[in-house]
Amino acid sequence: MKTDAARLFLFDIDGTLITSGGAGEASLCEAMQSKFGLQEDMRGIHLPGNTDARIASELLRKHALPDTPENAAALLDEYLFHLERRISAHDGRVMPGIINLLHALEARPDAVLALLTGNVERGARIKLSHYRVWHHFEFGAFADDHGDRNELGHFARRKALAHHGIDFPPERIVVIGDTPRDIECGRAIGAKTVAIATGHFPLSELERHSPDALFENLADTESVVERLFAV
Ligand SMILES: [Mg+2]
Repeated sequence: MKTDAARLFLFDIDGTLITSGGAGEASLCEAMQSKFGLQEDMRGIHLPGNTDARIASELLRKHALPDTPENAAALLDEYLFHLERRISAHDGRVMPGIINLLHALEARPDAVLALLTGNVERGARIKLSHYRVWHHFEFGAFADDHGDRNELGHFARRKALAHHGIDFPPERIVVIGDTPRDIECGRAIGAKTVAIATGHFPLSELERHSPDALFENLADTESVVERLFAV
């Protein structure tokens, strides 16, 4: 039972919790090849902070394929097939301090842990199960819920209400991610935003987007937890 003053922590996946060591990108390229017979190098495709739904659209349009829900679904199905096989072959890892941080937050009655990610749910599950962190999260908002990341906070909030009977006010929701898009989508629902420089963006660049808190990484569990409850 969570307390009424609980905070809802919404974690991004890639560059925040883990890196798949390029397994995601390689699986998308392989899917373009096996599904459509097309050579893809991901040039011009926006990956960091983007949703799988939008990435699929960008890939289809880049090759002048019809950007239909059917084509996008077929591409993502194929991507998941390759991701499942590839995930263990790539040199990915859990980001510094993540395991300790998740344990520390889980132990608190005033913390709810969930995901807010551009991954489709099956992709999120493949990645996080491989790195043994999937079970820490009660629910999530995924690219299956909406293609626009800025809409995902609303879904997370509704799912939190369904799981806990708590309608979290925006000031008690904390969105944690590694890109300006994470900051933007947190701000879109009035949530607190925490940026981590473990992904594609250096501290100085994230700072320009004025998150409520900013970390080089999440390794110092005690001070990170303290800060997460104070933003
Ligand atoms: Mg990310």
